[in-house]
Amino acid sequence: MAYHMAAISVCLKDGEPITLSSPITIQDALAQLLSGKQRKKTIAAYAGDVAVDLFTELTEDTVLTPIQAGTEEGLEILKHSTAHIMAQAVKDLFGPQVKVAIGPAIENGFYYDFKHEHPFTPEDFEKIEGRMAEIAAAALPFTREDISKEAALKLFTEQDEKYKIELINDLETDTVSIYHQGEFTDLCRGPHLPDTSWVKDFKLLRVAGAYWRGDEKNDVLQRIYGTVFFDKKALKKYLHQREEAKKRDHRKLGRELKLFTIQDDIGPGLILWQPKGALLRKLIEDYWKEEHYRHGYELLYTPHIARQDLWNTSGHLDFYAENMYAPMEIDSVKYQLKPMNCPFHIGVYNSHKRSYREFPIRWAELGTVYRYERAGALHGLLRVRGFTQDDAHIFCREDQLEKEIFNILDLNLLILNTFGFSEYDIYLSTRPQKSVGSDKNWAEATDALKQALEKKGLDFAEDPGEGVFYGPKIDIKIKDQLGRSWQCSTIQVDFNLPERFDITYTGSDNREHRPIMIHRALMGSLERFVGVLIEHYAGVFPLWFAPVQTRLLNITDDQTHYCEKVYRELRKAGVRIEKDLRNEKLNYKIREAQMDKIPYMLIVGEQEKENGTVTVRMRDGKNLPPMSISEFATKVQEESLEGRGF
Ligand SMILES: [Zn+2]
Ligand SMILES: [Zn+2]
Repeated sequence: MAYHMAAISVCLKDGEPITLSSPITIQDALAQLLSGKQRKKTIAAYAGDVAVDLFTELTEDTVLTPIQAGTEEGLEILKHSTAHIMAQAVKDLFGPQVKVAIGPAIENGFYYDFKHEHPFTPEDFEKIEGRMAEIAAAALPFTREDISKEAALKLFTEQDEKYKIELINDLETDTVSIYHQGEFTDLCRGPHLPDTSWVKDFKLLRVAGAYWRGDEKNDVLQRIYGTVFFDKKALKKYLHQREEAKKRDHRKLGRELKLFTIQDDIGPGLILWQPKGALLRKLIEDYWKEEHYRHGYELLYTPHIARQDLWNTSGHLDFYAENMYAPMEIDSVKYQLKPMNCPFHIGVYNSHKRSYREFPIRWAELGTVYRYERAGALHGLLRVRGFTQDDAHIFCREDQLEKEIFNILDLNLLILNTFGFSEYDIYLSTRPQKSVGSDKNWAEATDALKQALEKKGLDFAEDPGEGVFYGPKIDIKIKDQLGRSWQCSTIQVDFNLPERFDITYTGSDNREHRPIMIHRALMGSLERFVGVLIEHYAGVFPLWFAPVQTRLLNITDDQTHYCEKVYRELRKAGVRIEKDLRNEKLNYKIREAQMDKIPYMLIVGEQEKENGTVTVRMRDGKNLPPMSISEFATKVQEESLEGRGF
């Protein structure tokens, strides 16, 4: 390409422009605009608002914004460039019969999809990492070439890279950009690092099956996941956190602590609660119901199926059909499983004529719903096909909306706090492009949500246009002990359903009005919340909702009879107790109780038997002085009440 030498004006955003003779690379331009220290950290730049490589030549007046190591954007480029290096290493090691697909940056790293007959093993990972380190040490520059579509097709046809050919054929442009590092060429938009030497602190994590383009009809590929950081400390921290997360995996702990099971002959995504999990769930449900009652709610129970007509009226068959199970016929009428509880609560509303005097109506239900999820998306308790929402619907007048939202937030945060979640991110989502309801309704409702959040003194971020089509909403993501975020609570205003079901109330003016409906779930679902609780506490539950609060251990068979008496008395006093009276060594039984994460062990030997006491050993190994059976019962009851908040 021939450029005319010309003077161009280049500046940093908000900086003084300097005059340079073009063409000049961004790297050379930045050399004159940045201090040495700043320049060293710069790996790419925005020219205007387009992210480009440092070797890009400038031919016109440009505002530059450096992209530096240590920033979010810098990390994206590092992750993505590392994916290229991994692909190069894999092809170097396993030959041209390996086909490359795509390799994007993702939340905690990157992946690349390969078609390869032999499954990648942990030993392969070591080899690949070794080769990647060599490529990095060679400091190969990432160079860009813009070529015609035909030339690109020719290039990748020669390499027999069928996935790349498919990608190029789908592009609607005449030219495509390819990048080289050393001998390796990939189709890519860029930008990348200046060279491979930036990639030092990386690690390959796992391999998983993935369909080409996510379609189950296509080839199965091997997806290798990796992570990378700009410094060793950050990599170490991430790997440590990942190990911690593995230990806390609710599927693993759920199995070990015998809380729940999922079985293929029952069906994927369908949860069987084992006795301990069921007890845990009952304790949560009891607390939830009591707290709702104290906050002015009434409880409902509604069926699991309803006539198909209902789902037509509600609109679910228009916009939610793909999540619903096929209809069944009863007495020549079609029925469907419920994906939501809302229309049933409207049914209760419609059971008699409503007056403004009854408002606000607050109805809560632990309502079990069924939704279709792709088999590949199912994940332990977090993504299932049947689950129990901790649902509630509030019917109120417009002028009551703000106060109701305030009350919901109050109850929401109280419940989350009681379960040990005190950090959250709150989002307010406003009107999307496609929506129903008047401008006035949207503006007033959005304002009511905002006012309620502000009065509660809560920081929140606005998600413009991310509301549901029927009204604005508040989402609360809770943070767990590892700092991970979990979406649980949602509070949604709805202008649509009252309209569709044509529900009304008689106002003080004796005329008919349309109520506002609020949908809200605090935990999301019991399944999901228990999954999050398991991961948050690593299975070490606080006393008040630990399914087993104490386990009784005898030292020898001589205390068996006394132990039976202790067991009966404590169980009668409401203590959740188990006994381990096997003829095993005490240390062995203690270790098992620790593995089962039981808050208190009660140890009974001859002395305790004689004095009518128990010795209390805590999870952390500390012993409390011996106490009487009733003293221990009182201790457990008091601590449980304290944990529960009442
Ligand atoms: Zn790339
Ligand atoms: Zn609802």
